[in-house]
Amino acid sequence: MRLFSDFKYLLFPTRCFGCRELGYSICSQCRKLWNPHLYKSRILDLAVYSAIPYSPVAKNILLSAKEQSIKSADQLVKIALSASLQELFQKHASCALVPIPSRRSSNRRRGRDFINELAISVAKDFGVAVLPLLEHQRIIRDQSKLNIAGRRENLAMALSVKPSFHRNYSGENVVILDDLITTGATINEANRALTRGGFKVQAAATACVALRRLE
Ligand SMILES: [Zn+2]
Repeated sequence: MRLFSDFKYLLFPTRCFGCRELGYSICSQCRKLWNPHLYKSRILDLAVYSAIPYSPVAKNILLSAKEQSIKSADQLVKIALSASLQELFQKHASCALVPIPSRRSSNRRRGRDFINELAISVAKDFGVAVLPLLEHQRIIRDQSKLNIAGRRENLAMALSVKPSFHRNYSGENVVILDDLITTGATINEANRALTRGGFKVQAAATACVALRRLE
């Protein structure tokens, strides 16, 4: 078996999806970097629980999960989200998870709704519900190249609670879920929309947190 996998490796060399070095799907060095710890930051009054500091390797791992649907990368993001939620639920007993909606064009390209899928998977382990409450009220641009002011403008009033959920779930305690927090503009907008919709946002959880939030 070993011989066969070595042979296969010679024919189809793979690269670590963390550092792109030749090797197995994730090298031991990158795996070591993905070691969940509690990182708490705030957006105004909202506590955000994260597990992994964002770095070039963390970025590659997130992208490999999100854009390439690499299963072992998905698994790493799930481990990080679970670690964040583990800490969060100690303080805010079981709340429903509200994933940040991706842009429709991203879902089409990826062939799935990444954060929603992960939310469903981690929610099962914690025995909580997933409420995909949010939708885009208008088209938003890709955020990755925008600065803080650009993101704020891009996201102002961008999200709203789907009318069907409004009636049935208003008043519920919820936690916002996303893969990464950088400027906080997205989570802030989700918090605004949910609060306005009558939901009680207890906190937010992400897999990764941009280092500048922690400095
Ligand atoms: Zn690596």
